[in-house]
Amino acid sequence: MIDLRSDTVTRPTEAMRRAMAGAPVGDDVFGEDPTVNRLEEYVAELLGKEAAIYCPSGTMTNQIGLYLGTNRGDEVILHEAAHIFNYEAGAPALLSGVQVRPLSGERGVVSPEALRAAVRPENVHFPRPKLLCLENTHNVAGGRILPLEGFAAVAAEARTLGLKVHLDGARLFNAAVATSTPAREWCEHADTVSVCSSKGLGAPVGSLLAGDEETIREARRARKAFGGGMRQAGVIAAASLYAFEHHIERLAEDHERAKKLAAGLDRAGYRVEEPETNIVLVEVREAEEFLRALAREGVLATPRSESTIRLVTHLDVGDGEIDAVVEAASRLNSAALER
Ligand SMILES: *Cc1c(COP(=O)(O)O)cnc(C)c1O
Repeated sequence: MIDLRSDTVTRPTEAMRRAMAGAPVGDDVFGEDPTVNRLEEYVAELLGKEAAIYCPSGTMTNQIGLYLGTNRGDEVILHEAAHIFNYEAGAPALLSGVQVRPLSGERGVVSPEALRAAVRPENVHFPRPKLLCLENTHNVAGGRILPLEGFAAVAAEARTLGLKVHLDGARLFNAAVATSTPAREWCEHADTVSVCSSKGLGAPVGSLLAGDEETIREARRARKAFGGGMRQAGVIAAASLYAFEHHIERLAEDHERAKKLAAGLDRAGYRVEEPETNIVLVEVREAEEFLRALAREGVLATPRSESTIRLVTHLDVGDGEIDAVVEAASRLNSAALER
């Protein structure tokens, strides 16, 4: 099976497993795991933030970011296709007691004008808008890069309106590599940033939340409360550290393969959006039925809508697999055309 459902399906490499096996460990709830401490320092530096905290998942780092940026009854403003709004099991309501205000916008982006129009004045009737969340790259929009200038503009507007900014950077390094822009340049415009090591970077587990010292100190309490305090976590943190040290630049290969895949599918007669990073969205007649046929050809992907499927390139797919996927899809399309 060629698995293009997500970049989360990768297995740790041999070198990564060696790093895990040899990692010095301690009790991280006591702050005594040297590998976790190294990872946190490494990622804080990479993102240009004072501190970072290691957590089990991107959902947890996003939700800690939300929790620290709001009080009960406050409003969180985000794009209607945001991961935080759609795929985190209602956690903003469940864990932080906040109201989520989804806005529309081109390609996952909230414009400064839309933000300004959504922020309501101080009045006893209105929830208090406290936090703007944006996503880079944007998952549902097809791995779209949040342009730095656009992000800087909307973040500046948020600040003017008295809101904090959280950046869901699960795939921030895809954006950084694709644009040759250091990740920290986006982070400058955000109060808190989450990044995942378990997506394209290929670690089996892990996400980090970065911010200033005081925020991350509070985040340690929130992580404990949310059930994410881990003990000898160096065993898994070592994989994340390895991923940040060795797998960032190679994301360019995933982007090349996504382009190659899109071009091949285009030649085979499919309507494909030109990918910016490692996610390819393809139009088909009926997504679920198409995916079943594709699976019979040995290829796994996920539905994005009733007539769009998503294919994601990653560390465990090479050029040979991309060719095989294009061939499988070509067979399906010509079969459909002959019918
Ligand atoms: C995957 C992802 C997350 C975090 O998901 P977890 O599975 O909880 O690690 C957050 N935001 C985006 C945009 C994602 O794609």
